[in-house]
Amino acid sequence: MRPKHLACSLDDSHRFDAERPATTCPHDGAPLLVRYPRIALDRSALAARTASMWRYREALPLDDNEEPVTLGEGGTPLVRVARLERELKLEAPLYVKDESRNPTASFKSRGMSAAVTRAKKHGATELVAPSAGNAGGALAAYGARAGIDVTVFLPRDTPPILIEECATYGARVELVDGLIDEAGKRAAAHARTNGAFNLATLREPYRIEGKKTMAFELVETLGSVPGTIVYPTGGGTGLVGMWKGFDELQEAGWIGAERPQMIAVQAEGCAPIVRAFASGAETAEPWEGASTAAWGLRVPAALGDRLMLQALRASSGTALAVGEREMRDEMHALRAREGIDAGEEGGAALAALRALVASGRALPGPVVLFNTGSALKYGPRSAGAS
Ligand SMILES: *Cc1c(COP(=O)(O)O)cnc(C)c1O
Repeated sequence: MRPKHLACSLDDSHRFDAERPATTCPHDGAPLLVRYPRIALDRSALAARTASMWRYREALPLDDNEEPVTLGEGGTPLVRVARLERELKLEAPLYVKDESRNPTASFKSRGMSAAVTRAKKHGATELVAPSAGNAGGALAAYGARAGIDVTVFLPRDTPPILIEECATYGARVELVDGLIDEAGKRAAAHARTNGAFNLATLREPYRIEGKKTMAFELVETLGSVPGTIVYPTGGGTGLVGMWKGFDELQEAGWIGAERPQMIAVQAEGCAPIVRAFASGAETAEPWEGASTAAWGLRVPAALGDRLMLQALRASSGTALAVGEREMRDEMHALRAREGIDAGEEGGAALAALRALVASGRALPGPVVLFNTGSALKYGPRSAGAS
């Protein structure tokens, strides 16, 4: 559906034309959110459609006759993991939403499909983004699909497989000394000097439109909202996107006011949102010396910090950090005991769930863990690393 307008996430009276290229709010720098006339998403019409996330096209930024830039992203399996469920002594059913099954093997493809579709419509001749790894590969693939040049800024120590992935999809790769925040500055400067569209997390409003479809799929598959969502969190597009998605499902009449508790999982070596949540802060201070083998979680500062913290609190959720050994062990548990292609981020989600069970926290069901990407994308793990 054609968006009505873009609204500032900090002050809804700041509104902008959605038919023009968008960045952040020019008044306060806050992320913009896409608003639609009225979301009418007829469940009975869905049966005949493709399994991809574009089956929800009435709730996505797409004109009536427009074709999206797609590789079949979304429609990922929701796998019941009964063995782990018993082992954890959960009373509620436990599922893994397996996002490793997306094009380019991570959930980044959902956001990039939506963002590249919009950028193409708005006449982009070049796309740029910083990436901790998976966003770059997804952007490179969707840029190739759209026939638009791509430049990706990556930290120099990014696993070689991820760098090669971007390059083999035809993107120009720039390696940066520093982390994704430094890469973000370089990408923004590149966008300014070359007129490239910057698709950095929440620097434009469309990646979260793709991510919100994870909430749509959960409700469509389960028939109701889950009770608990455990989500490995970096830049926050998934958390913020799903939270927006539940509001839109309510508007469409699929659900009522009920919401899952949203639980953000970060690594002990990079946990700015966990720290801000615990201190009651509205925004997060940048994390110094960020380090973790969960590359998708190595995000020391996020533009969406305020939106993430709002969603966690509004959902009566929480945020917790897990250690490197725990996430690695639980990655192996998901792989060896359930056959799921979990990476460190998915392992972090299971480690967090185990900690929450041990702490006695109430976990309304169904409980959904997100496995956000494939383990194969980071290449061989160094021998003996814990
Ligand atoms: C990017 C990424 C994350 C964090 O994603 P956000 O939704 O932006 O917080 C988690 N896991 C993997 C595998 C990623 O690539």
